Amino acid sequence: MRLPIAAFLLFASPALAQPFSVGTAKAERGQKATGFIEVPAGSDAATSIPVIVFHGAKPGPVLAIASGSHGTEYASIIAVEKLIGAVDAAQLSGTLILLPLINRASFDQKVVHVNPIDSKSMNRFYPGKPDGTQTERASFLITKEVIEKADHVIDLHGGDMDESLRPYSYWTKTGNAKQDEASKQMLLAFGLDTIIISADRPKDPAASRYLENTASTRGKPSITAEAGHAGTVEPEDVAALVNGSLSVMRHLKMLPGAPTPVANPVWIEKIESVTSTEPGIFYPAVKKGSYVEKGMTLGTVTDFFGKTIFEAKAPAAGVILYLCSVPTMTKGGTIANVGVVQTVR
Ligand SMILES: [Zn+2]
Repeated sequence: MRLPIAAFLLFASPALAQPFSVGTAKAERGQKATGFIEVPAGSDAATSIPVIVFHGAKPGPVLAIASGSHGTEYASIIAVEKLIGAVDAAQLSGTLILLPLINRASFDQKVVHVNPIDSKSMNRFYPGKPDGTQTERASFLITKEVIEKADHVIDLHGGDMDESLRPYSYWTKTGNAKQDEASKQMLLAFGLDTIIISADRPKDPAASRYLENTASTRGKPSITAEAGHAGTVEPEDVAALVNGSLSVMRHLKMLPGAPTPVANPVWIEKIESVTSTEPGIFYPAVKKGSYVEKGMTLGTVTDFFGKTIFEAKAPAAGVILYLCSVPTMTKGGTIANVGVVQTVR
């Protein structure tokens, strides 16, 4: 009996025929498997992080797509849920790992920014440690089970309940020209039209802090992308994240067809953050995505008697990447992030 060449290669190479496991999800070639990364109890409670593995019928790169480090950034979580139904392992080259919801307690309890079990952001404690609090133990296992097994990582975020943000992605510049070019091509393929250049992210793999930087400090071209605002699940935000992920998979030759890259994105060279000096009630004066001049009023904070106690001014000309979307304002709370557009390239 003559075997097709692909089947011959599968049998000829034991490595190619190996199943692929992440946590309890173990997928054979051409199959999808679901399971959990089980984080055991330690100084606080156990948790289990859902994972889906698509082990493609043909060889290719390993791509991990994660969301829900912040469990109320719903647009990004729903985007990864949609990807589950959009990918067929039988048609896939390489392996796709999906982590739709890293921060289970944040999602369950509708707590913004942090894991309510230990009050830590689940995107600040990588590479984690096995004997830390729940966030650190989860980060440790995601590093071992996902980051170390992947060639590329896409970390999706989506504008938390108090964040009105315009869609953008982040380009981490590591200083390695080849790796930086590869991650830049992933960003262009993802297709968001505003890209923040991050040159100040951690360089030490033992203190990588962020999920994406845990991959990039390990030499793996990776990106972060955000779309969504104020806890909403708008179809255009979800579509931007789903289509961007699929376009990157085409760019990496994991799926057939051509990617749909953005042609001339806006590159942001610096973020100027504006914080409130006073607690009180916030009234915005601009919208997300607006262009502002230096000195323009971005919003005001009043006391509980209606008296203006703080007026936020743009520290530089640029685009409003993010604006506080709720009246609650704390002392030191972020009012807006103004992205300064790169003019010299
Ligand atoms: Zn986030």
